[in-house]
Order: sequence, then C-alpha cells, then structure tokens
Amino acid sequence: GKVLVTGANGFIGAWTCKTLLERGFSVRGTVRNESKATHLRKTFASFGDKFEIAVVEDMLEEGAFDSAVQGVDAIVHGASPFDLAVDDPAELIDPAVKGTTTVLTSALKHAPTLRRFIVTSSTGAMNTPSAEMVTVSEADWNEGAIAEINEKGAEASPLGKYCLSKTLAERTAWDFYNKHKGEVGWDMVSLNPPYVFGPVLHEVDKPEKLNTSMVWWYGAVVGGSIDNESLANVGVAWVDVRDMAEAYTLALTTPEASGERFIISAGPFKLQDFVSIAHRLHPQLHAGNTEYNPAKAVHYTNYVTDKQRKLLPIKYRTIEELTGDTLENFQARGWF
Ligand code: NDP
Repeated sequence: GKVLVTGANGFIGAWTCKTLLERGFSVRGTVRNESKATHLRKTFASFGDKFEIAVVEDMLEEGAFDSAVQGVDAIVHGASPFDLAVDDPAELIDPAVKGTTTVLTSALKHAPTLRRFIVTSSTGAMNTPSAEMVTVSEADWNEGAIAEINEKGAEASPLGKYCLSKTLAERTAWDFYNKHKGEVGWDMVSLNPPYVFGPVLHEVDKPEKLNTSMVWWYGAVVGGSIDNESLANVGVAWVDVRDMAEAYTLALTTPEASGERFIISAGPFKLQDFVSIAHRLHPQLHAGNTEYNPAKAVHYTNYVTDKQRKLLPIKYRTIEELTGDTLENFQARGWF
C-alpha cells in the first residue's frame, strides 16, 4: 500500500518514512518546498520509486492536499509546529488545527482508496505534565490546557500552549471523523507519544537546529546547559523515535486499532538517567548530578499503556540503547 506522510522532513517524519519503506510500503512524503526534499530523496534513494515527494506549500490553504492524497491507502498526519518559544498561542493552534482540517477535507473529497487515517497527537492532548501525581490513560483529555489558556492567554506556560494545540488538533480530527464516518471508507487512529528522543535522520546541520525535544536532550546530555538540580528532577515520559515509527506501521496493519487512541510510551525518565549513561559510555561528557539515585526519583505522571501493549506490541528500546545510538549519531556529525 501507499502511505502519505505529512511533515516528512521532520524528526519523527523522516524515521516514519524510513520504517514504512523498510516494511515494504510505498511512501509519499509532504514538505513545504523543494529544497526540503533534497535530503530525503538522497536518504531514501535505495528505495527507488517507492519513495516520492509531494510539495504542499501552505497546508492552511483550503484544498492544499487535494492532489497529495490521491491514490493513497493510508495517511500519517504529523506536520504541526512543536515550538516552545511562541507568545501568541494562536501561532501553534492555527497550524495544528487548520492543518488537520485541511488534510482531512482533502481526504474526504479526493481519496477514495483511503483506508486509515493516523493522526500524530501527543500525551500533551491528555495532560500537561506538572508536579502532581496523576495516572493518565486514553480516556483523558487535557482540559487543564484549555483552562490555562482561557485564564492566562499569551502568559500561559510554553508547554501549556503547545499541549493546547495538540489537544485541539486531535479533537478536531475525531470530531471530523465522527461527523463523516458514515460516508467514508476509512477509519481513524491517534498515536499519543510523550517526549520522543533518538538518533537524527532528518536534515540538521548543527545541534541548535535540532527539533524541540532533541535540542533539549542535547542540551542536557552533551551541552551541559541544564543545572544539576533540574537534571535529577525534571523529566516525564519518553519513547525512542524508531519505536514511534514502528508504532505507525503497527497502527497501519492492526485492524483492531480502528477508532482508538494509543499512548506510545516506553516509560518515565529524569534527564539525569540519560546523562549518567552518556557519561559512562563517553567519559568526556559531563557526569551531571552524581548524587542522583534513580530508585528514589519521583515520577509524577503515570501513563497507562495497557491498550498499546495489547494491540500494538512494541519491544521498546531501553534508555541505554537510545543514549548509545544517539551519541553515536551525534559523534558521526562531529557534534561532540
Ligand atoms: P519537527 O519540528 O522535527 O517536525 C515538524 C514537522 O511539521 C516538519 O516537517 C515541519 O515542516 C512541519 N510543520 C510544522 N509547522 C508547519 C506548518 N505551519 N505548515 C506545514 N508544516 C509544518 O518535530 P517532530 O518530528 O518532533 O514533530 C512531529 C509531530 O510529532 C508533531 O505533530 C508533534 O506535535 C508531534 N510530537 C512530537 C513529540 C516530540 O517529542 N518530538 C512528542 C509528541 C508529539 P518544516 O520543516 O517545513 O517546518
């Protein structure tokens, strides 16, 4: 089958394309302009015409995906801004929500062969992490993010704004699907990962240009830009980008996934968990907080993954594997 991957040049998008191609799918990846396609074409050259690019200049324009969706069996929609440095929440919400509506509208009108639509949501659509003990499952929606923005507007926390954009985008997708499901030949699945970390496959020329989750990881592990107190106390839950890519292929091929949301999480972390392993593997990297005791770390958010483990069984990579492979990737780029 052929899968349309939106935001193919992003951190998760590039790994998604690679994993789908390796599993035998054909992939059509969308990028905003031709210059963003060059690196992808080179990376996936060995897959020949199984990989193609569709340039979608402005996904907020009605009909933007009308030709890109034609002839595809599945869509993985991931294009959405993950930026913690915006003031006006609308800068995140508009592209997240309108982008979702645009691709769904094109799918409704121009994709008669479509069988499944997968939306890349986030655990941020379920809760905004804080120092409060919570257990979070697929039944949860991030009502707190809505309340926070209503109350504080542009003064809301950066993470709160981003989480709201993901909440509204995912909700938009389900509302659209529920409204039209009687008239379409496809169903919907949402994948909700927490922080996604791992080696980099997309085009990045320097660490400062990494995507938001990896620029944070790099700062903690290699850059030494995070204080010891935070290293031991800051962290939520994580998943390796390669396992996230695997989750898409499972979600595409598992009929029982139909109509479900899935938390895709390998488990909790504190930043020091990565720093300790990195220092052991590469002693030239800083040791961070040597007082840290992982057994005593308090993890506030417990993401329930029972449904994922049952229906989309992934053998999650460990923190050791992620750290080792990511540092190898960084070293090959001369980043430390
Ligand atoms: P990246 O920033 O690496 O990728 C984002 C992708 O979305 C890029 O292809 C980008 O294109 C595209 N995009 C962003 N804004 C727009 C826009 N206005 N119009 C068109 N395309 C746009 O981030 P990630 O790979 O991390 O994120 C991918 C998805 O995963 C997002 O939906 C994000 O919310 C979600 N996610 C990420 C997590 C993480 O920890 N990384 C955790 C949970 C969810 P361009 O390069 O042209 O800007």
